[in-house]
Parts: sequence; C-alpha cells; structure tokens
Amino acid sequence: VLKISGLHKSFGDLEVLKGIDLDMEKGDVVSLIGSSGSGKTTLLRCVNMLEDFEGGTIEISGKQIGYLTENGQRRRLPEREIARQRAMTGMAFQQFNLFPHMTALKNVTLGLIKTKKFSRDEAISIAETWLERVGMRERKDHYPGQLSGGQQQRVAIARAIAMNPELMLFDEVTSALDPELVKEVLAVVRDLASDGMTMLLVTHEMRFARDVSTKVVFMHHGRIHEQGPPEQIFGAPQSDRLVAFLADSD
Ligand code: ATP
Repeated sequence: VLKISGLHKSFGDLEVLKGIDLDMEKGDVVSLIGSSGSGKTTLLRCVNMLEDFEGGTIEISGKQIGYLTENGQRRRLPEREIARQRAMTGMAFQQFNLFPHMTALKNVTLGLIKTKKFSRDEAISIAETWLERVGMRERKDHYPGQLSGGQQQRVAIARAIAMNPELMLFDEVTSALDPELVKEVLAVVRDLASDGMTMLLVTHEMRFARDVSTKVVFMHHGRIHEQGPPEQIFGAPQSDRLVAFLADSD
C-alpha cells in the first residue's frame, strides 16, 4: 500500500528527514515513536503532501505521490492532481479540525457529497454507519462545541474513514485530550485496526503502540533508528537509544 524510499525533507537549513525508507502492506498497523522533534509528524505530513519534500519518493498503491519524475527531472504535480491523490489517505490530527458550524453528521457527509459525489441520502447512510461505529450516532445532530474532545475526535475519525481511504494516518490523536477521554479514542482506533484497516500512526502512548501495531518504528534525529514487531521493540530493544527513550516514556 505504501512505499517510501529515501525520503528527505528540510525546513530551511534544518534537515528533518534524512533518508527514510518504509514499506507497508495492506492491513499493516505501523506506529511511529521517538522523542519530540525526531520527525514523526513531518513524515506523516509528507505522505499526504501537507508538506513538500526535496528528495526520495512516496508511492501509495503504486502511484507516486506529489511529484513526477521524467528523464531524471522531478517536478511537483499541479495542485488539483495532488488534491486528488490526497483522497487516497485519510488523516486525523491532534486538533480535530471539525467545522464548528456544522453538526457531527454534516461534518461527515460534506466530503462524501462534495468530493465523492454521493447523493445526500447515500452520504447520510454512509455517515451514520461510521458514526455508529465510533459510538457517535446518537449525537449526530450535535455541533462540535456541544461535544467533548474525545467525542469530537471520534467524529473526526469517522469523517476521515467514511471517505474510504487506502491508508489512514493518525497524528497523535489523543495528545490534546484529557486523560479520561484518551481511552475512548484509543478503543476506536484499536477496533479499526483489528478490522484490518491499514494505518500509520504517530503516538506517545507506548502501551497502545505495543497492543495495536504490526510494526513499530523508532525515529531519532530524522532517521529510522530501529524497527520491528512490538515484542522486539518493547521487549528486546537492540539499541541504547531506544532503551533510553523507552525508559523516559514510562
Ligand atoms: P513531536 O513528537 O514533538 O510532535 P515530531 O517527531 O513529530 O515531534 P516534527 O513535528 O516532525 O517532530 O518536527 C521535526 C522538526 O522539524 C522539529 O525540529 C520541528 O521544530 C521542525 N519543524 C516542523 N515543522 C516545521 C515548520 N513548518 N517549519 C520549520 N520547522 C519545522
């Protein structure tokens, strides 16, 4: 589903990603862990072209994202094409980014109608199915301001998944939540993962990463420092850096 090769990304003089290679198959759940500033969020944002990048390639389902390379020349695709490609991924953010003046239901149906061209009735039916799945159907007529952070995040996740992306990206979806609301959001993500959805997620919740991931990737200073199945990363970490990071994040 996802193939990242030699990805390089800088902000001005600061090289944030220094050659990332990462492959994901359908149904994989990959967690990115690592200390603050190691480049996890930036990596996620490159995958759906919220950030441009200078080097390397990203392919989703065999299609090169963001750029076209012809005769050794690399050029950025037109914005319209990038917007179309962006629909191959769904993203949920730390800040939920719901439209405040729309109900939960309307937040989910909007993209289905505008982008996916479903009829209103079809869109409502799809949206209700996903709101049900995240436990928010009963509150579908609430506005974001009438919902807790955890509820808003569940609506935001339903909105992204309703679009039927090849790959879901989760960027620290519980970081902005009060501790008692973290659980309900993680339960939703765990439920989707066990259903075989392909996911790439940035998380600071180590226990969750251990439970839910097929692979855990530890990033350090813009590189993948160590990766492997959760049993290895958490149970038998190989490098001193990872050992130190895990000790710190307890
Ligand atoms: P955290 O766990 O704190 O979210 P992270 O591993 O996700 O950290 P990134 O957010 O990817 O790290 O940031 C990597 C580096 O890039 C940091 O040094 C950050 O300050 C820098 N950076 C991120 N976005 C920008 C930007 N838009 N402009 C300039 N520098 C940026």
